[in-house]
Amino acid sequence: MELQQKHLISNISHELRTPLTLIYGYMQSVLRRGDNLTAQQQEALKIAIAEMEQTIGLLKKMLDAARASDGIEPPHMETLLVKAEVDKAIKTIQTQHTRTIQIQTESRLEFAAIAADRYQLRQILIELMENAIRYSPPDTPIVIKLNKIADRMAIGICDQGCGIPEEEHSQIFELFYRVDRSRARTTGGAGIGLAIAKELTEAMGGTIGLQSQQGKGSTFTVMFPISSAS
Ligand code: ADP
Repeated sequence: MELQQKHLISNISHELRTPLTLIYGYMQSVLRRGDNLTAQQQEALKIAIAEMEQTIGLLKKMLDAARASDGIEPPHMETLLVKAEVDKAIKTIQTQHTRTIQIQTESRLEFAAIAADRYQLRQILIELMENAIRYSPPDTPIVIKLNKIADRMAIGICDQGCGIPEEEHSQIFELFYRVDRSRARTTGGAGIGLAIAKELTEAMGGTIGLQSQQGKGSTFTVMFPISSAS
C-alpha cells in the first residue's frame, strides 16, 4: 500500500469511526428506553443498529489494514506448536459460530513447530476460517489440513463453498478486491481481510496461496518455515 493511500485510509476511517460510535450509542439507548416506540419503529431501529455495527467493524478493519501495512507492529517471533495454535484459533471461532471445524494431520506432526507471532498467526487463521464459514453452506464442515512440505509447515483452510473463479486468483489478495460485489455486499465483506492476512503472513516470512474451483470450494494455504527448535 502506498504511503499516501495509507494515510488517507487511516484518517478517513478514524474520523468516521468516532462520530459513528457516538450515534451508535445514542441509537442503542433510544431502543433501550423506547417504551413508547411502536413495534415497527423498534424493528427499524434494530436494523439501523445492526448496519451501524457492521460499518463500525468495517472501519476498524480499514484502520487495521492501513496499520498492518505500515509495519507499526513488527511481528514478535516465537517458536509455536502449529497444531496447538490452530486449536486455539478454532476455539475462538467456536465462541461465535456453530460450524463443524475439523483438523486433519498426521500424528508425527502433532508437535511440529514454526517461528511466528502468535497473535498475528491467530488473526490470519481466524480471518481465513471466517471467510470459509461465510462463503460455504452451513451444513458443510471446514477442514484444517496440516502438512509438512519440504522444510515448511502448510496450514490449509478448506471449505466446500462457492469457490473462486481461476481468473480472480491473482487479484484476490489485493486490498478492497471482492469477487462478486453483490454477493459480498449481502455478506458484509469489503475485501480487506485477505489483504491483511497476506501482509501479516509475509511479514513473518511465510507465504499465502489459494487453490479453488468455482462451485467446488476453496483451500487457502499459509506456509511457514519449520522452526529448527522443533
Ligand atoms: P471480505 O470481507 O469481502 O470477505 P476478504 O479480503 O476476506 O474480504 O475476501 C475478498 C473476497 O474474496 C471476498 O469478497 C470473496 O469474494 C472472496 N473470498 C474470500 N474467501 C473466500 C472463500 N473461502 N470462498 C469463496 N470466496 C472467498
